[in-house]
Parts: sequence; C-alpha cells; structure tokens
Amino acid sequence: MTGATSTTDTAAIFPFDNSYARLPDRFFARLAPTPVAQPRLIKLNEKLAVHLGLDPQKLASPDGVAMLSGNAVPEGGEPLAMAYAGHQFGGFVPQLGDGRAILLGEVIDREGVRRDIQLKGAGPTPFSRRGDGRAALGPVLREYIVSEAMAALGIPTTRALAAVSTGETVFRETALPGAVFARVASSHIRIGTFQFFAARGDVEGIRVLVEHVTARHYAEAARAPNKALALLEAVIARQVDLVAQWLLVGFIHGVMNTDNMTISGETIDYGPCAFMDAYDPATVFSSIDTGGRYAYGNQPSIALWNLTRLAETLLPLLADDENAAVEIAQAALGVFAPRFQAAYAAGLSRKLGFRQSEPDDFALAQDLLHRMTANGADFTLTFRRLSDAVADPAADASVRSLFATPESFDEWAVKWRARPARDGGDLDARQKLMRAANPAFIPRNHRVEEAIVAAVERSDFAPFETLVMVLSRPYDDQPEFAAYTDPPKPDQIVHQTFCGT
Ligand code: AMP
Ligand code: MG
Repeated sequence: MTGATSTTDTAAIFPFDNSYARLPDRFFARLAPTPVAQPRLIKLNEKLAVHLGLDPQKLASPDGVAMLSGNAVPEGGEPLAMAYAGHQFGGFVPQLGDGRAILLGEVIDREGVRRDIQLKGAGPTPFSRRGDGRAALGPVLREYIVSEAMAALGIPTTRALAAVSTGETVFRETALPGAVFARVASSHIRIGTFQFFAARGDVEGIRVLVEHVTARHYAEAARAPNKALALLEAVIARQVDLVAQWLLVGFIHGVMNTDNMTISGETIDYGPCAFMDAYDPATVFSSIDTGGRYAYGNQPSIALWNLTRLAETLLPLLADDENAAVEIAQAALGVFAPRFQAAYAAGLSRKLGFRQSEPDDFALAQDLLHRMTANGADFTLTFRRLSDAVADPAADASVRSLFATPESFDEWAVKWRARPARDGGDLDARQKLMRAANPAFIPRNHRVEEAIVAAVERSDFAPFETLVMVLSRPYDDQPEFAAYTDPPKPDQIVHQTFCGT
C-alpha cells in the first residue's frame, strides 16, 4: 500500500494489452471518444465482463460507466478509429473506416484470447464523412439482443459488453434517444481493411496486416511457408462454416458488404439483420436492400464474392508471377463451394436427427424445405417440433399444423421415418441431437421490435431484459416463456428492418 489513492480507480478496470495501436500510423487515426451529456448504464453483460477478466462492479460504477460511454479514457487505453474500405452493395468505396466507433484497446480474456473493446456511437472521427458519429438507442438494443442471441446459439459473433444511454438526442428521420454500445470482438479487422491498402497499392501495408492477423487469429497460418495463402484458406474455412450456421438457424445478415465481414470469422455489424419466421430463401428484410442482393439464400454466394475480393488484395503476396498468383487464389476459392455444401448438408442432417450425414439426406432436407416454403411453415418451429416427433409420432400433429396443407408434411414424414438411423443412437439420443441443433428461441423480429419500442418510447427496459434472458438459453424449453417461441400474428409481422445509422 502506498497510501496514495488516485482520484479515479481506473487503472484496474481494463488491463489493456494493445497490439493494433502498435501498427503503422496509416492503419488508423488516433482520437478519444467525444463525451456525452448524461451517461446512464442500461445493461452490462456481467458474465462476459468476468470472462474478459473485468470486474462487473467496477464497470457499473460511475467511473466504469464514464469509460463505457466515452466520457473518460481508461488508463492504458489507446483510442483509435480503424481505417478500412469496402464494397457496399457491390460498389467499391476506397475509404470508409470507423466513422462512429472507437477502439479503446485490447484485453486478453480468461481463455487467453485477445479481445477488442470498442465503443460504437462514440462520436465523430476523421472517417465520419457526413455522419454524426453517434448511434440511436434502438439499433444499439437490436445489436445487443441479436449478437448475444447468436453467441448463445453457438455461432461466432462479436459480443455485447454494455449499452449506455447518452442523455442526448440523435437525428435520423426523427429525433431519437442516443446510446453508446460497448462491443467486444476477437478483432475488428475486416475484408475491407485489406481492401483499404490494396486500393492504395500499399503492398507493404497488406504484408503488415497479414503478419498481424495470422499472429492474432491463425497461429497455424503464421507458421506456413506461404502465409498469405494459408491466411486466405483459413478465412475461407471460417466464413464457410459461419454462413452455413447462419442458414441453419434462419439468420439474414442484411448488409454483407465487404466491410461487414471479419477476418476472424465472427458475425459483425448487426444492422438490418433479422431471423426468418416462415421459411423462404428469397426473404429480405433490409429496407436498403431493394435488389435482394443479401437475401437469405444468396448469403453463401455473396460470402464467396466477398472472399474473392479478399483474395484479390493478397495476390501480390501469393506469388511473384501474377498469373501464378491468380491460379493459387482460384484454387483456394474453389474449396468454398464443396466445403459449404458439406457443412450445410451435415447441419441439415443433424437438424433431421442424423449424426452421420448421408448423401441422400440433402434431398430429404430440401424436400422438407420446399414444402415449408410452399406451405408458409415457420422455420424454427418446424424443426423444433420435429425434435419432439422423432421420439413420439403423436407429436406429428404439432408439426403438421404449421403447414397450410398438413398432408404435405405427412407425405414427407413417411420418407423421413424410412431413413434408417444407421449411426446408432436410440430415439432419445436422436431427440437430444435434434434439440441441440434446433433452437426453440430465436430473436424473432416482432419481439425485438417490441423490446425496442418499449425502451425508446416509454423508457421501459423490462421487455428488453426479458428477451435477452430468454434468448440466453435458446435450446432449453423454458415453458414459462413459451410465448416467445410463437411466430408473429398477422398484425405483428415486421416487414422491414432499418440500418438505423
Ligand atoms: P455500417 O453500415 O454501420 O456498416 O457503416 C458503414 C460506414 O458508415 C462505416 O464507415 C461507418 O463507420 C459509417 N457510419 C455509419 N453510421 C455512421 C454515423 N452515424 N456517423 C458516422 N459514420 C457512420
Ligand atoms: Mg459496418
């Protein structure tokens, strides 16, 4: 004990260990968040805080909230806005960057994983263009709800550490309450980060970035003779698995621009994202996606398109000869389609209760999906109730009632039951497998909307709190919250979601 008490006990709040801030100056702009009028903690993710090695009590204290809102820079923090570029709806923008997000620094979590702590809505930066650098409460709550739901579903994602209201108004189409979102990611490096340097012919920048991300995310690639190739292959593998998982739970990202696709393979930037109710691969919710570029069923091909843009940035590092480099890149990208098909098919087999995927399962699953589309059947409920029907055909009634023409399900169920479960496992074991692959609870749009409206219009955060809690256990039955499994009634259907930027 020195006896000296510092005015703020900030040193211990974030044990920062920053690596991005050590990269060359042209990778970012250093600046602190812009303070807000009246920060108030809406929600702190205590479990995540503990996992990050942080003390929830300190974070919830006035000093902690000052940091979570950008009113104080924690000791050891080296705040910066990251530079990046990106293809937005297919059109290239050579400079985007963090226009309203500030990376405070990095901490090492309890599993030894380096994690960014970023404040979204933390004020203008040199990358803001015409934006105000702020975030509205609604989109902050949406990102909190959906990213935490994705984590609970077991899908790689950025995480929500906290949401703080600012006491300030932001102006979008109307005046809205402002908020700051504290986001955690294994990094915020995007395909667009590589594109930023490629667009400037800055091969050295790409080289530095490859070193940084392989060391950080892909230890094996870091040891490979051709690091850039190993990195490309590794990112492709993670993105394939990610997008397959999205499809298997009915998730639609909504803005799969290359600046919204991470190198780590985590889902990022929850804007007009949504989960599908009735199954239809053409589903689009985003108000700005008028062409349906980012429709549910397009997501695999868009992921490949984006990864092709990543490969292009790496060409100078793949081989000295340009033609040879292109061939190497094409071979790496050629793995995408078969790998995706394998991951998606295996996931569908599990959803149908088969541990070992067999070639015919895919047609069986497609047959069900087609029937669901034709019958307006709810995606989540159909598979969840199928998990009951596997052990008890009497439960078929609850599945078939989801189909406009219930006989369509009956026809399919005969084929399903005729598929022998050669991989062993009694019905109970199969049911367990299915229940672990078929969530009961997803963040349904009408529930998300309901939580946002209550918070924004009535300062009532109870629906938000309940929703976050229910979604933290998506695979459990939680009978007391059965109403949260319900699809929207006709007047509750959300037809469009908005970016809210
Ligand atoms: P997003 O659509 O959130 O992925 O953002 C696309 C780009 O717009 C990024 O460069 C963001 O930083 C920037 N941006 C979005 N909203 C704002 C805002 N309110 N103020 C400044 N920049 C923004
Ligand atoms: Mg973005």
